[in-house]
Amino acid sequence: MKQENKGVLVLYTGGTIGSMPADPNDPESPQRVVDWATFLKHTPQIDPDQVGKRADHIGFRVDCWSLEPPLDSCNVAPEDWAAMAEVIYKNHDDYEGFVILHGTDTMVYTASALSFMLENLKKPVILTGAQRSHTFMSRNDGLQNMMTALMFANAKSANIEVVPEVCIYFGGKLLRGNRCRKMDAEGFTAYFSPNYPALGEAGGVLRVDREHILPVPTQALQLRRRLDRSVIGLDLFPGIQDSGLVESILGIKDIKAMVVRGFGTGNIPTKPEFLSIFEEATLNRNIHIINVSQCLKGGVALGMYETSAQLLEIGMLTGFDLTPESALCKLMVLLGDEDLSTRDIRERAQQSIAGEMSKSLHVQAMRLDADCLISNEAPRWRLSPASPMGGAFRPADMFNAVLRLYEAEVKTDDDTPLEIEIYLNVASDDVLKKDSPNFAGSFKRRNSDEPFIVSFDITSAARMLIKPGERISATVHLANGNGSLSWSKSEIAVFVPSNS
Ligand code: ASP
Repeated sequence: MKQENKGVLVLYTGGTIGSMPADPNDPESPQRVVDWATFLKHTPQIDPDQVGKRADHIGFRVDCWSLEPPLDSCNVAPEDWAAMAEVIYKNHDDYEGFVILHGTDTMVYTASALSFMLENLKKPVILTGAQRSHTFMSRNDGLQNMMTALMFANAKSANIEVVPEVCIYFGGKLLRGNRCRKMDAEGFTAYFSPNYPALGEAGGVLRVDREHILPVPTQALQLRRRLDRSVIGLDLFPGIQDSGLVESILGIKDIKAMVVRGFGTGNIPTKPEFLSIFEEATLNRNIHIINVSQCLKGGVALGMYETSAQLLEIGMLTGFDLTPESALCKLMVLLGDEDLSTRDIRERAQQSIAGEMSKSLHVQAMRLDADCLISNEAPRWRLSPASPMGGAFRPADMFNAVLRLYEAEVKTDDDTPLEIEIYLNVASDDVLKKDSPNFAGSFKRRNSDEPFIVSFDITSAARMLIKPGERISATVHLANGNGSLSWSKSEIAVFVPSNS
């Protein structure tokens, strides 16, 4: 028996796809966004009155909700995202999917925001638009983009896999929306997704890449309605450290979060006075500062290796390979959620919510170990018991795990470095043996000039011994050398693939 096809709801928001010359007799006059009725007059392929009357009709029901008035996308704002999210939330079960007709300029922001606002989305939400409108140009990309987006949104009709995600379809490619960047102001392939493969393609046939789409969630759809726009993006440039700019920006009263676009893998100028501006903001004023890369491809992973420990120390968060647009929208959504504490926001910012980054970070603070000291006098080892490791991931997939000791100081009585061994999950009366499966590594450390973060790479042992939901403890043992190691708090940080 043929299943009923619920059709697609179009959210018409404007943009070039819905623009026409202000003067109908002069195609060169400035373009203006038209209303849905005018748009539909020029788009009989989706007109409900034309079903069965035209060979080129889409062949299923297309209803419309329109932004009032429809806008050039440079004027689309968070309240418009909230209106769109609300419409999708309310109509989620009544359609096969949703298409958002949108201007190209801020499409990636809308796509990113919606991906975080609509948690447990089970239907396709496909944004598309045009560089040239079909409403008055015979050479255009608008009509094909829209027709194909409608087909991706109506999996049943197109006989393809349901893509339960907020996507951008443009110029032949179906891309995850929160991974996209606009790379071309004119070209018909305007978007690319530098750090995640395409979800599908449209040539003569439509193809969905099953491996790359998110699974259909089992929990009910949740709407995160509120957005807090007290966020700002900052592009670093050589010389900014002496400009006084960052201090002024972070000094703005209402700022709650900043996306810092660092150099390469997230590097920033290391001048202590410059770093302390960020430190003051994160540690004293709870401003969330997330670090993403200025590079189009690749990302940052603060504290995955010891080299970037300095930025961890000043409280920066890792944005991995988040796009700057996605980072801003994610922070707006997290800040808008009144149920989240400052700590929750820090945690979630570094974990993938809607497939927006390739890695997630799970941090487990160790308990009961404030002001620890081990030395060749006594005690030689210290056990840091922990609460259960948070997160949900497959341990074997782990990229990397580190044990971090904060404000750590190494003091050696002579020139020989201290040899420090780490063990996971040993009891206080166990004998520490390097050939036991609990041994996580042996590390040499020299005198430190001042207290700093010390991290130990414990990946191999962690893959075997750390399990989400289960308790994890670490023992730090001074195996050799004369001197001492002291630290304040400690934590285990686990970097996992976001789809683990
Ligand atoms: N300024 C237009 C917009 O974003 C450009 C476009 O749609 O291509 O609404």
